[in-house]
Amino acid sequence: MKSRKILLVGNWKMNGLVRNIRELTEIEQSLNKESPEICLCLPATLIGRAQNALQKNLINIGAQNCHQSTSGAFTGDVSAQMLSDIGVTHVIVGHSERRVSCGETNKIVKQKVLRVVENAMSVIMCVGETKKQKNAGITIEVIQEQIQEALPDLIQPQNTIIAYEPVWAIGTGKTATMEEITSVHSIIRELLNAKYGESIGNTTRILYGGSVKSENASTIFSLDNVDGALVGGASLKAVDFKKIIQAAE
Ligand code: PEP
Repeated sequence: MKSRKILLVGNWKMNGLVRNIRELTEIEQSLNKESPEICLCLPATLIGRAQNALQKNLINIGAQNCHQSTSGAFTGDVSAQMLSDIGVTHVIVGHSERRVSCGETNKIVKQKVLRVVENAMSVIMCVGETKKQKNAGITIEVIQEQIQEALPDLIQPQNTIIAYEPVWAIGTGKTATMEEITSVHSIIRELLNAKYGESIGNTTRILYGGSVKSENASTIFSLDNVDGALVGGASLKAVDFKKIIQAAE
């Protein structure tokens, strides 16, 4: 039995049309009050539809990003306050796809973390090394820098979640080895304890992300300091995500 409640987060990325909401209702039907905590981070276009379709209050609906500013002339962007206003509970920030394609730095990610928690939502902050950084043997330095620079000076375990996502494992089918996951998660735990003290550090959840699927989920969940998963591809279909939920039960 884990001391921290398992959290499974699905990231639909830029996938999903209105008809795909049925995947969520199918997942919901399989859940009960003892199920792990579930959050599906949907494209903004589906958030309202999903909230209307769900009945049991067992799936949180999250977003995949927000702007770092509170409001203003940012055509096409969505603020944390807007997300909170429509009942979004969680927001992913610092996903490697956005760090690469939108030039998001640790400084920008930190501003986003602050906007999310100021607006009474939970933040899922992604960290992780690229293949090049892994090959250069600097994984720990990269993670350390991301945590030091992007996490604010004060955090609360109830609304701050870290997702360790080796960039080379995202969407590639190449999962990190169990040794790699154990080692990086334990270092993240140490960094959190050192920065915030043990009562915060030991209660903050650390998720693993990167090609999690039904075949590897239960082994990953059995590892120390793994408090759930951030799941991309395998969260799109209820049949796949339900198996990952079962692995966490
Ligand atoms: C992700 O989108 O954060 C992710 C981990 O994707 P996948 O599970 O498809 O590797």
